[in-house]
Amino acid sequence: MARNHDAIVIGAGVIGAAIALGLARKGFKVLGVDRLPAAGYGSTSGSCAIIRPYYSTVDGSALGWESHFYWRDWADFLGVEDERGLARYIACGCLRLKSPGNKFLEPTVALMDKIGCPYEHWSAEQVIERLPMVVLDSFGEVKPVDAPDFGQPAGPPLPGGVFFPDGGYVSDPQLATHNLQRAAEAAGARFRFNVTVTAIRQAGGRVVGVTLDGDEELDAPVVVNVAGPHSFKVNRLAGVEDGMNVKTRALRHEVCHVPSPGGFDYEHKGFVFSDGEIGVYIRPETGNHILIGSEDPPCDARQWVDPDDFNRDFTDQWRVQVMRLAQRMPALGVPSRGKGLVDLYDVSDDWIPIYDKSDLAGFYMAVGTSGNQFKNAPIVGEMMADLITACESGRDHDADPVDFHLRHIDRTVSLGFYSRRREVNPDSSFSVLG
Ligand SMILES: Cc1cc2nc3c(=O)[nH]c(=O)nc-3n(C[C@H](O)[C@H](O)[C@H](O)COP(=O)(O)OP(=O)(O)OC[C@H]3O[C@@H](n4cnc5c(N)ncnc54)[C@H](O)[C@@H]3O)c2cc1C
Repeated sequence: MARNHDAIVIGAGVIGAAIALGLARKGFKVLGVDRLPAAGYGSTSGSCAIIRPYYSTVDGSALGWESHFYWRDWADFLGVEDERGLARYIACGCLRLKSPGNKFLEPTVALMDKIGCPYEHWSAEQVIERLPMVVLDSFGEVKPVDAPDFGQPAGPPLPGGVFFPDGGYVSDPQLATHNLQRAAEAAGARFRFNVTVTAIRQAGGRVVGVTLDGDEELDAPVVVNVAGPHSFKVNRLAGVEDGMNVKTRALRHEVCHVPSPGGFDYEHKGFVFSDGEIGVYIRPETGNHILIGSEDPPCDARQWVDPDDFNRDFTDQWRVQVMRLAQRMPALGVPSRGKGLVDLYDVSDDWIPIYDKSDLAGFYMAVGTSGNQFKNAPIVGEMMADLITACESGRDHDADPVDFHLRHIDRTVSLGFYSRRREVNPDSSFSVLG
């Protein structure tokens, strides 16, 4: 393995593998390194891998909608075979219920109109026709399950929802990452696993490489931090955290898998479904299960953790999330044994990612993906490759941000939106919704 590289990408999760691909396609001699034994074994492996266009900002929504086309055309985007097969995108669409708390989705629909993303208004009857096990009672704000009025109707029934046809989920996020690794390798990138970056080497005010496992030095003029929930640790190794107005930290999350209620075939007839009044989102899961994730309602304490030392067992939060869904689906059983997973988000202060350079020349970061950037990985790979190429050619991205064209939806975004120096974005949902 050569010691000299044009770029070293720290982390071979879905975003890191996509950046390795993006850089390799631009001609960089790339090395991806990861402390785990294979690509996508970090937080990517726990991802719900939902693809949806609705975010709380225009740029977030534009990227989310654009991602649908990359996953739809996955084989073309990769342009290579993978001996393990390709990840499947199940484009079942996404339904979000209208409620007083989300202003009956009027702001969301306005954002969709702005970017031209398709959607359908569904009446209460249409929702029940598609999901007969659902009740449309209004429960008001999300509450702890031991609140006296938990599960009690708190107003007139909800009037229906908005369905977004350009969405769904990717069946196997780890396989999708392996697909990206194979595509990156076909473009000339190389990967090393079971190696940990322990130092970011610097000389003359710029990065010159990394140290692996305390003793092996590798040279590269470009190093990219894509370390997921460990991103703040790698930024501290590089000494760049003080130059960031928006920072990152690791948040623990539980995801539940429960059988679909009442014999309903949710695996094949269901779709992504979310509802701000019960504070959870769901999608179909294999074995006719429903996967339940939390939308981080304000009444739940957030569990900020050390990514090297956190509880991987379910806690009572697992039962809380199932009971919250049982409000909407009264026939849902609450299994006595928890199934699902526990993993970490790499959360930024405003739940919007940081795709940027740093104050250390040659050191870049794609971090703070806040539980909502799996979908955007293939776009981020191209965006970061453009950003790095521009900066390495002398562009001052802080003063004159690089633009990126979203070719499928024909819209241009300024990468300044993702700056580490931005003010915390007040339009964010400050939750996994982004
Ligand atoms: C429970 C859960 C549900 C989610 N659901 C969705 C969803 O439905 N839709 C969506 O779009 N997004 C979702 N996300 C978010 C999405 O999965 C992440 O944004 C994405 O997977 C992050 O990829 P990554 O490559 O940045 O990080 P990771 O996959 O965490 O990869 C980082 C890698 O860096 C390596 N690393 C760290 N430190 C070092 C070091 N010092 N040296 C070497 N290697 C190192 C780690 O081993 C790891 O493999 C979810 C995330 C979670 C956890």
